[in-house]
Amino acid sequence: MTDLRCKLLVIGAGPGGYVCAIRAGQLGVDTIIVERASLGGTCLNIGCIPSKALIHAADEFSKVAAAASASAHLGISAPGASIDLKATIDWKDAIVHRLTTGVGALLKKAGVRVVKGNAEFLDGKTVELEFEGNRQRIVAETIVIATGAEPVELPFLPFGGPVMSSTTALSRQTVPQQLVVVGGGYIGLEIGTVFRKLGASVTIVEAASRILPQYDAELTKPLLQRLKTLGIDVKAECRAQGLQSDGKGLVITLKDGDEQVLPADAVLVTVGRRPVTQGFGLEGLKLTMSGPFVEIDAMCRTSMRGVFAIGDVTGEPMLAHRAMAQGEMVAEIVAGKKRIWDKVAIPAICFTDPELVTVGQSPDEAKNAGIETKIGTFPFRGNGRAMTLERDDGFVRIVARADNHLVLGIQALGQGVAELASAFGLALEMGARLEDIAATIHAHPSLGEAVQEAALSGLGHAIHF
Ligand code: FAD
Ligand code: NAD
Repeated sequence: MTDLRCKLLVIGAGPGGYVCAIRAGQLGVDTIIVERASLGGTCLNIGCIPSKALIHAADEFSKVAAAASASAHLGISAPGASIDLKATIDWKDAIVHRLTTGVGALLKKAGVRVVKGNAEFLDGKTVELEFEGNRQRIVAETIVIATGAEPVELPFLPFGGPVMSSTTALSRQTVPQQLVVVGGGYIGLEIGTVFRKLGASVTIVEAASRILPQYDAELTKPLLQRLKTLGIDVKAECRAQGLQSDGKGLVITLKDGDEQVLPADAVLVTVGRRPVTQGFGLEGLKLTMSGPFVEIDAMCRTSMRGVFAIGDVTGEPMLAHRAMAQGEMVAEIVAGKKRIWDKVAIPAICFTDPELVTVGQSPDEAKNAGIETKIGTFPFRGNGRAMTLERDDGFVRIVARADNHLVLGIQALGQGVAELASAFGLALEMGARLEDIAATIHAHPSLGEAVQEAALSGLGHAIHF
């Protein structure tokens, strides 16, 4: 048994943990990070990056396939399109490798010690782990729990065989013929669309009354319409029951209680993610929990002195950039700086087709908070750039206070709007008013002009619509 000592021990090297460790190292804090799988966590290895790589590949393939068809209206033609999914997965894996190797290099540059293994808590200052046959104990002044989350498994549809989690789906080397996706949230819609664009027949089964139930119908209705155009069948208010006895179909219960069998050679279950809080002695610390998550305060402190928690293990929204922002803040607190969670908003992007961005309050959320609002909306069909990109569906919507025009929220639906999310976040963090956005020159031709026009619309005088 060997003992290691440090000021800061971070458990888990996902976006929360590795950012925390790098920032702590930069600030001269003696830091160790422990990871049992691969540096980069869910996000880099089996989440954000692999899914966005495959979304891109599927988009490229569907464009080539469209050019190969008789309806190639841009004057472009291409011989018969085909895809070698194994080669696509190799390309995706190469991107993952580049990024995870980069994280290792950044940790090294910051002077952080990386230890491989499964950390198990002995107490609030000590963990034990086994690595290459050696048991090691690490004693730290401060510990950060950044153990992330994992896919929820349905008891009647256990992962394995034709039933895939997002992890299996993102490494699959063949396109299924008939895919049924259970859960029409972020992951189900993103990966379901990938396989549809690669040629699978896709049905999405969603328990709630509509896809992405956390967003309002004005945003999700056009998305549903586009899914239909792509040939994806969405069955809302339906529930999966289990595989048919021959394993070749999924039994579902319809809204009226009737049963239906959906033919399927693959089933993707994406009904949410649950925090990783079990199996490594965390229970022994008896931390205060918030439902299944570790409860934290505005400094990411848990109920035990010297123990912090960040990222997915602490609750919604389970997003990489929230984990990173928490990680950076905690590192600075440990280094003695005065920091507190004071963010106005956490942007969220659903990389569907079209993309959906939400930052801050929706019209309903502002109304429910008792705020009188002005809503400005601008459709991309009034935007020249959207037309030249052949995607003039969707819109930008700005929610502002009626009294002083302070922007409370910005939402957008449209192809390419993911890249507008940073501008939306900046506007909210800087306390922009409708007049600030309206008075900013937005370059022409760009999708961003729709943001300026939405602000003008909120002020009652959009120019191009
Ligand atoms: P994780 O990234 O889950 O990292 C936790 C790490 O801790 C893991 O590497 C794990 O191995 C390690 N660990 C756990 N227990 C121990 C232990 N006892 N000892 C040692 N190591 C341990 N978010 C976005 O913002 N944008 C997206 O586009 C996006 N796309 C996604 C797509 C998919 C398919 C999935 C599954 C998720 C996606 N997410 C996305 C969510 C994002 O991946 C998570 O929010 C993010 O990874 C959370 O970071 P984290 O550091 O909290 O945890
Ligand atoms: P989710 O919460 O987004 O969606 C799950 C969906 O499954 C919900 O719509 C829910 O109503 C439905 N559902 C639940 N039980 C069901 C059942 N038995 N039958 C049918 N439908 C059922 O969860 P997810 O898609 O698994 O994603 C998990 C998390 O990962 C997200 O909350 C998000 O934080 C993160 N993520 C983010 C991105 C992104 O930022 N682009 C992408 C992927 C994942």
